Amino acid sequence: MDDRVWMRVALRAARRALALGEVPVGAVVVRGDQRLACGWNLRETLRDPLAHAETLALRRAARRVGDWRLDGADLYVTVEPCPMCAGALLQARIRRLVYGTANPRAGCAGSRLNLVDYPGLDHQIQVRSGVLEARCRALLQRFFQDRRITQDPDMERWQSPVECTRLEIEQGG
Ligand SMILES: [Zn+2]
Repeated sequence: MDDRVWMRVALRAARRALALGEVPVGAVVVRGDQRLACGWNLRETLRDPLAHAETLALRRAARRVGDWRLDGADLYVTVEPCPMCAGALLQARIRRLVYGTANPRAGCAGSRLNLVDYPGLDHQIQVRSGVLEARCRALLQRFFQDRRITQDPDMERWQSPVECTRLEIEQGG
């Protein structure tokens, strides 16, 4: 099936996060033509640093199939995964990762590091990037623009993963 179809599902999941005031990131785990589970960022809601869209989607998918091994399953996510989620994808033996927009700040599927396809680790994941990129990026940018307009005093914690200058990257920001 066309990757865009599943990325639209991930975008819908991201909007559920947005509705809760969360950074809008959404994910869906798919095997064959079947949706196993969706997840969306709930870090603030659950006060849980592990509650990223990808980890929640993986956990729900594993519960559904009754196995932590998600062999042959693919994960679609609106933003390139962070180190934790890249590690979780490896642990779940995900076959293929498809993401929307890159995360130059912390992306571990090729931007900052490439953990998901790292030679010598015992599992490698195929990666496709840039699916519905403009929509995935716009959703995030709008969220961060709105935060700035309301001058959230807590803005430090809302640093946009996609708005990162070359300088910041070079300085390790
Ligand atoms: Zn993550």
